Amino acid sequence: MDSKANLSTFAPSTSQTLSQKVSKQRGAPPSKVWLHCCIAHNSENPAYKYCNYCTEDPIYSSDNSSNMQKHLQGRHQINVEVAISRVQEAALQQLKELYC
Ligand SMILES: [Zn+2]
Repeated sequence: MDSKANLSTFAPSTSQTLSQKVSKQRGAPPSKVWLHCCIAHNSENPAYKYCNYCTEDPIYSSDNSSNMQKHLQGRHQINVEVAISRVQEAALQQLKELYC
């Protein structure tokens, strides 16, 4: 094994101050639609979210909640407008952690 761990190549220190702006969430709460979706797996387009229920390619993806809602209703008969219970929400969260 020829491991050339070259630790001497430090990037020139450009004194960059990381300005981390905490984006406050205001306005409308995130749509329930997104509870049925997960973010891109391959980070091709992080803005897009992918349907949790599509099992075959192409997996539906959209960055538009109403488009995704139409897809969920039309394709999977999921009525997003119905408020989901906390139990379901927790289950979805677990699913997300498992699959996303
Ligand atoms: Zn789908």
